[in-house]
Amino acid sequence: MRIKLDMKSNAIDSFNEALAKLESAQTGDLKSYKFTILHLSHAIELVLKMYLQTLDENLVFSKCYKKVKQRASEKKIDLLAAFYELEDDGFDFRAVIAGHDNPLTVNVSDVLAIAKNEKCGTTGNNFVDQEFIDDIDWMKGVRNAIEHFQFEFTVKEVRLCIGRLVRGLDEFSDIFSLFDLEKEVGKHCYETFQVLADEYEHSLAEAHMDVREAKDALFKGTRPKHQMFIEWNEYYCEECNNETLIPNDDSKTGYKCTFCGNEESGKIEVDCDVCGLLWANEEMSNWGENLAHVCPRCVNPEKW
Ligand SMILES: [Zn+2]
Ligand SMILES: [Zn+2]
Repeated sequence: MRIKLDMKSNAIDSFNEALAKLESAQTGDLKSYKFTILHLSHAIELVLKMYLQTLDENLVFSKCYKKVKQRASEKKIDLLAAFYELEDDGFDFRAVIAGHDNPLTVNVSDVLAIAKNEKCGTTGNNFVDQEFIDDIDWMKGVRNAIEHFQFEFTVKEVRLCIGRLVRGLDEFSDIFSLFDLEKEVGKHCYETFQVLADEYEHSLAEAHMDVREAKDALFKGTRPKHQMFIEWNEYYCEECNNETLIPNDDSKTGYKCTFCGNEESGKIEVDCDVCGLLWANEEMSNWGENLAHVCPRCVNPEKW
């Protein structure tokens, strides 16, 4: 029972620590991403082990887990079915580790190998989706890279994956009734959690971050003297209703929404084919081939 409580409070401590590190990473301290990953992977490992303990308290120990694996390969059944068979037989897992002071525990992959067989009683769907498993594998890869000082990936990749992992963990702890993650999040990082936990909120926050980064990159690459000539506009995207339509070299209109990918807006300014002044394209008249964009001033000179 002791180990159960410790696992939960350690998992939550690590999770809160991960969120705190993510906050400092997002305010510019990029090194903090490393610690976010390390703390988050520790939290996930503990939560997965908590799940195993819902099956049997001793199943987190490698020696006990091996018994389940043996049964699975003997009977050619999956690990979860093998566990239930042993349980029905009244198998005593505690006896397996009796007398061992510090028995080895299983790893994340071992837990997932069992958990992926959990199915919903009514729909028959798997409880643990493959995306969560893939993201955990990705995280393990990054974690190993960190430990071996080869740390290479884009910040964007990391942030998106952290969001998916947090949502996966939230769902996992809910499905298996381990705890309510939202209630356990510390007050100081609750907002960060809320953004990550909501897929829409998270991708929107990312889209705004893309706007800031694109702007920074553009201005940083230009001498101060020439910055006044930079054409930077942020338009309102009518497709997704966000202020996220920004210059993009790969777009045929010259603009692309960082949230939904839309490239169109009547507000995007274009040169008048007659006088050369900039106007919103929705105000332009089309006079045919070489005069596709004629501004209101050139259409109605007497009015101006
Ligand atoms: Zn949009
Ligand atoms: Zn004109």
